Amino acid sequence: MSTLYTNIDELVTNDATLGDGSPLGIVTDGAIVVEDGRIAWVGPRAQAPDADERLDLDGGAVIPGFVDSHAHLVFAGDRSAEFAARMAGQRYDGGGIATTVSATRSATDEQLAANVGRLADELRRGGVTTFETKSGYGLSTPDEARSLRVAGEFTSETTFLGAHVVPIEYRHDREAYVRLVAGDMLAACRPHARWIDVFCEHSAFDVDETRVILEAGIAAGLTPRLHAGQLGPGDGIRLGVELGAASIDHCTYATDLDIEALASARDTTVATLLPGAEFSTRAEYPAARRFLDAGVTVALATDCNPGSSFTTSMAFCIAVAVRDMKFTAAEALWAATAGGAAALRRDDVGSLAVGKRADFVRLDAPSYIHLAYRPGVPLIRAVLAG
Ligand SMILES: [Zn+2]
Repeated sequence: MSTLYTNIDELVTNDATLGDGSPLGIVTDGAIVVEDGRIAWVGPRAQAPDADERLDLDGGAVIPGFVDSHAHLVFAGDRSAEFAARMAGQRYDGGGIATTVSATRSATDEQLAANVGRLADELRRGGVTTFETKSGYGLSTPDEARSLRVAGEFTSETTFLGAHVVPIEYRHDREAYVRLVAGDMLAACRPHARWIDVFCEHSAFDVDETRVILEAGIAAGLTPRLHAGQLGPGDGIRLGVELGAASIDHCTYATDLDIEALASARDTTVATLLPGAEFSTRAEYPAARRFLDAGVTVALATDCNPGSSFTTSMAFCIAVAVRDMKFTAAEALWAATAGGAAALRRDDVGSLAVGKRADFVRLDAPSYIHLAYRPGVPLIRAVLAG
């Protein structure tokens, strides 16, 4: 059974061999043929082949589904009071994670799954067709393992983040916690995870601890990704590059050396920028032009989490990236689609070419530029996933 989606005023493919030849590969007056959940043909409507069924999209723009490569969806509780306090002048240092850990440990599996399901649904309605999610609010072997089990009901992109912060009960023996994460906790989480991640930050884990945990994860067959350079400079970004991390996330305090390292590793390591975090903590945005102009592969992701970035809206992240981080509209859209796919090492999503998953979004707008031009407006009219 094949379906021809036709009458698309502006079709963004992210395939530079198509359409205008730009990185977005924009086809004017385009069409797509989908068969068995995959793209069977894409190009100008005038050249479209026949299909069993025909669907007129009535003009407008079509873009690849967003790929959100960084989210923390498995949690319970609410931190709106902390947000309000921070907006009233308190400085964010990541300490509020303990609040969520306590609520998450107290929640039932069903409550956790209901929360993830609600957020996954929000992501989908916002045009996200692939998303990653992390553990990291359990911080005990059983709570981390069940967080990943629950996450796995909603996505195959699951990340073990036992090294989010040192939990209160290990405050006086962090070495023992690092041993636990790299030992028994990793062993229990390994069957439910694809990735391993560490919050490498002054207030969380230093580079030596990060190395121990990531190397243990690699030895167990997981692929590393990393939170680094969010709250201050450090050696985390270069460690991530050295260990072949798929993505190093935040990078707000990246130095010139860090950017050089990321640029030379552009085919293996992506820099994922998370504007929702700076927005919601009223912090300085990363200087995105330094990354883009140096040739670093850049992704944009929501960082959806209850403490520092409680948004599931990729359109919002694009608007902030363009308005406040000096991405061009084209760079921001690419980063939120193809960039996210690169950060998850996925070649089946993030672009619309023959053989890829048929994941695309019809916008209520004549051009993708409206995602930044019309901030806060619900422009996602329809989402097709597979
Ligand atoms: Zn994060």
